[in-house]
Amino acid sequence: MKKLLLRDQVDQVREEYKDDPFRCAQELKKLLKTAEQEADVYSVAKINLFLSSCVFEQGRRDSILAYAYKAVSILENLNDYSLLARGYNLMGIAYAGQGDFQSAIASYNKALRVIRGRKKPGIRRESLLNNIGDSYYQMGAYQKSLGIAMSCLSNCRKKNPDNHRAIVLYGINVSDCYFSLGEYHKAKEVLDDTRADVDCLPNSILVCGYYTRLSGVLYAIGDAENGAKYSDLMLDMAGAHCDSYEFHHVFDRIASYQIEIGDINRARRISDALTRYSNLSGHTLDLIITKRVQANICEAVGDRDRAFTLHKELNVLYEKRILEQNAIQYESQMSVESAGKEIERLMNRIRLTEEKAERDPLTGLMNRSALTRVSAAFYQDAVSHGKKLGGIFLDIDYFKEYNDTYGHSAGDLAIKFIAGVCQAEESANVRFARYGGDEFFAIVLGCQDKDLEALALRISEKIRSSGYEHVKNPNSKRLTVSIGVVNVDLKKSEHTVQDVVKYADKALYHAKDRGKDDVFVYHVMPNSEYSYSRISTDSFRFDQE
Ligand code: GH3
Ligand code: MG
Repeated sequence: MKKLLLRDQVDQVREEYKDDPFRCAQELKKLLKTAEQEADVYSVAKINLFLSSCVFEQGRRDSILAYAYKAVSILENLNDYSLLARGYNLMGIAYAGQGDFQSAIASYNKALRVIRGRKKPGIRRESLLNNIGDSYYQMGAYQKSLGIAMSCLSNCRKKNPDNHRAIVLYGINVSDCYFSLGEYHKAKEVLDDTRADVDCLPNSILVCGYYTRLSGVLYAIGDAENGAKYSDLMLDMAGAHCDSYEFHHVFDRIASYQIEIGDINRARRISDALTRYSNLSGHTLDLIITKRVQANICEAVGDRDRAFTLHKELNVLYEKRILEQNAIQYESQMSVESAGKEIERLMNRIRLTEEKAERDPLTGLMNRSALTRVSAAFYQDAVSHGKKLGGIFLDIDYFKEYNDTYGHSAGDLAIKFIAGVCQAEESANVRFARYGGDEFFAIVLGCQDKDLEALALRISEKIRSSGYEHVKNPNSKRLTVSIGVVNVDLKKSEHTVQDVVKYADKALYHAKDRGKDDVFVYHVMPNSEYSYSRISTDSFRFDQE
């Protein structure tokens, strides 16, 4: 069976364990190790993104940010806008979960910018807008939040009328805004308008949330009878979802109305449900809401001692919450910093691996595939800006004999030495590669003929005068090289990179034919004619041939 690509395995794990975020996270972490080892950046990003989702689904607010941050730092340099938008969205959710709504809104907006104009955005625009509206709501900017929630609702009705879940969710948000602005009748109207969509949904957290809002609104407009009806309904349903924040955080609203009108029994039922929930969640904010309702009930029934004790406990909780808030902000800052460093380390490792893959291991010069890449870039530049494209081909003279005389290791050292001489001449426009065994090639961009020829000559002289003995080299008993040079004008005639290599190679073999230890230039002439000129070692004189 064909082995699945890592990135496909990631999708498969996500699909297979979509209902079990704990197991999914475990499996994803295993794949993350492989992805990092294989320097598969795309998979590393995708896995971090999915891990962030898993943690979010597990209801853990702690590491959503770190995972999403890692995913986003990588995805910003890749071109998968859909994953990037999802990453920004998760970062927004994480920030909002910590009460940092400004950063949350900034992240959601980044996601919106990324998907602007995309046909398949991977994440719904409304869902991002809804999250922005939610953050404004939490900040107390109800009017602003209302505008956003209304546009989400009307867009969804128009574009996805069958998405009852989204319609109910947006309806609840619009209603919450009206409620917080004191416009209770409008809040009720919106809920009434989405009633038909609620009836299409199975019993769920969302439906319970709807009844919760409806009960609160009915009490607010003075319809205590129906308010009580929906309060009972919501409590019956809440029992099945006793660990959900979605509706518990608005229970106190209803309890206050019930206490006000003396319906203490119902308020007590709410207080009990809240107690169960906050014990389960252990979250300080949940404990605060619960104790507030308990204290209000105690005051209403005249149990002053108990109310006093509860208020004292509440003060302790308020102080605890302030400390927690600071700690959360500090920890999230730390986790983002360490995620940043981790990603930097990973990217460096990947860069080194890539660079290593492009280098010849013996000499550290570029290998053939890197040369092809650089040459193509130089060629584009030369064509676009009317620059010359040059080549230098270099081959060691009598190298077989050198190996035979001094041994293969000494031969290796000689190759390394020559590579070093070439490397010393490298610049942004002159890039050397080890072309083959004892052959080296430089691709040169935008160099004057004279400068290029001087460079070739310099290399040849440096090697000859280096003192590397080669007794089998009849020319000088020294290690020497033969060099072919060409510098073509792409404006004058059409040449390819392959032509440059070919011409330089021809000049090199001309040098070999003419006795080696020499530098020859290939001249392109009209009508496919060509000529060579020898660059003389002494006084840099040209001998036309
Ligand atoms: P010419 O002057 O015509 O270039 O003759 P040459 O002896 O240099 O012959 P040629 O260039 O054809 O042979 C290259 C030799 O380089 C053959 C091979 O044994 C040797 N060689 C290739 N790669 C390496 C290497 O990595 N290390 C060592 N020590 N020798 C190598
Ligand atoms: Mg040779």
